[in-house]
Amino acid sequence: MAKEIKMNPNQQQVNINPDDLVDVVCSECGCQTFSQVFLFKKLSAVLSPNGKESMIPLQVFKCTDCGHINDEFIPNKDGKKVL
Ligand SMILES: [Zn+2]
Repeated sequence: MAKEIKMNPNQQQVNINPDDLVDVVCSECGCQTFSQVFLFKKLSAVLSPNGKESMIPLQVFKCTDCGHINDEFIPNKDGKKVL
C-alpha cells in the first residue's frame, strides 16, 4: 500500500522575519521567558447561561523569574477590559 502524501495547496506559507518581531518581556523584571498558569474568573449569575455563578479558567503566562503576570496577558483585569 503506497502512502500518498498530499500537501495542502491552500496552506499558506507564513514568512515571519524574526527581525520584525518585538520582544515581550516581564514588565516587572524584564525577563523574557514565561510559563503557563491558569487564573480563574467568575461569571456572574446574570450572564451565565445556566443562571448560576460559575468559575471560568483562563490560561495566562507568568514570568518564570519573578512570577509576575503582565497586564497585557490578563483579559478583563479587575473587571476592566485591558485587551
Ligand atoms: Zn519577571
